[in-house]
Amino acid sequence: MNTPVDLRSDAATRPTEAMRAAMAAAPVGDDTYGEDPSVRALEDRVAGMLGLEAAMFTASGTQSNLCAILAHCQRGDEYIVGQLAHCYRWEGGGAAVLGSVQPQPLDHAPDMTLPLRAIEDAIKPEDDHFARTRLLALENTIHGRVLPAGFVAEATALAARHGLARHLDGARLFNAAVAQAGNGDPRDAARGIAGHFDSVSVCFSKGLGAPVGSALCGPAAFVRRARRVRKMVGGAMRQAGILAAAADYALSHNIGRLAEDHARARRLAEGVAGIEGLAVAPVDTNIVTIRVEPEAGLDGGRMLAWLREAGILATGLYSLRFVTHLGIDDAGIERAIAAIRAFAAAGRQTVRP
Ligand SMILES: *Cc1c(COP(=O)(O)O)cnc(C)c1O
Repeated sequence: MNTPVDLRSDAATRPTEAMRAAMAAAPVGDDTYGEDPSVRALEDRVAGMLGLEAAMFTASGTQSNLCAILAHCQRGDEYIVGQLAHCYRWEGGGAAVLGSVQPQPLDHAPDMTLPLRAIEDAIKPEDDHFARTRLLALENTIHGRVLPAGFVAEATALAARHGLARHLDGARLFNAAVAQAGNGDPRDAARGIAGHFDSVSVCFSKGLGAPVGSALCGPAAFVRRARRVRKMVGGAMRQAGILAAAADYALSHNIGRLAEDHARARRLAEGVAGIEGLAVAPVDTNIVTIRVEPEAGLDGGRMLAWLREAGILATGLYSLRFVTHLGIDDAGIERAIAAIRAFAAAGRQTVRP
């Protein structure tokens, strides 16, 4: 029996032997006293890489985004955010539940940007009727799409003109950077993107391949406020250097190789292009989204079950999502292509008139 090809998420990565060795060798201390040298080194490193003053290591991207929103906003404030953004839709409503901060979600354009006009219209005037609009939160990449550089510049400049803070959920910032850098240095591209924001959250536990952890970067005073929030939600850790060492290893070894994940995602998309009833969205980075068209006699739920039988794991319902990462090799991609093609051929035959 072949091991499953797990394309559900790039969070599925397992630490490699070399990463485990780095973790085992990490010097540690009590980080709640600021005494864990590995955590401090990681925080300094990631802040420096992104051109921001300070950083805080967190248990997860969800926690990092929550700390960011609560450090930017007070009770009765609101943040403007995309309907499909993680820090609106996928984080349990934490900013509202724990911070009394109201989201103002906006519909995305087809390329996953937010129309500038819609952002501007959503900014409330000073008036007792309204929540105070305080923050614009963007996500890059978002559902695997890279936000165009011009959009990021214009949207953040618009926010700044209106006195809003700007937060980037950069869980996959380095995927965006690798895609945008082309033959250039993705670290420069990452710093370029981050430069438009007051605060940036990055995940080490997605494509970078660490088992746990994110970092929230921003001005020192902002990060101090965020540390208080992290404490309140139980996120202050002790000898966390073991985890920080994995993240540090990921920054050293796993940024450039994201290009391989992107190439495999493109190969997967090409391998299933043109099949009737399967609409493949444009692939910018490591996420392939395939819409399964019921009109063509295909069913997303049946397709997922079929793929699972064939040892291919994906997620979704009408739109299925396939995410490449360092645990996926070329053979896995070819298996996925073959299974999807087989389903499309067989799935149609079972349609009743
Ligand atoms: C995964 C993810 C997060 C949250 O990360 P967790 O560590 O799973 O909490 C936040 N934003 C985006 C865009 C993500 O993909």
